[in-house]
Amino acid sequence: MEKLCILCNRLYKLEINCPACGRSLQDLGVVQDFYDPYSPYEDQRIYQDGYRGYTEDCCVHMLYCSDCGWQEFRPIKRLLESLLLAPDHLQP
Ligand SMILES: [Zn+2]
Ligand SMILES: [Zn+2]
Repeated sequence: MEKLCILCNRLYKLEINCPACGRSLQDLGVVQDFYDPYSPYEDQRIYQDGYRGYTEDCCVHMLYCSDCGWQEFRPIKRLLESLLLAPDHLQP
């Protein structure tokens, strides 16, 4: 059974508030877009760190607050494809 990231597949709207100012955070994309595994040392280290929690079960997204500039990496749990076909199960 395939597991899907709800953000990558645009199946669910992100509703996470900024810890600093309380406004809603934007999804800037998956962490891989920010760290190229072949880039210099600093980024390489983060890559080896497993993309800060990037696993088969979690997709890590970069979240950004356009109001105060807060940025964070947030692991988003992947959901089974079968669950996604039943929107009632789509609880955060
Ligand atoms: Zn994702
Ligand atoms: Zn903020």
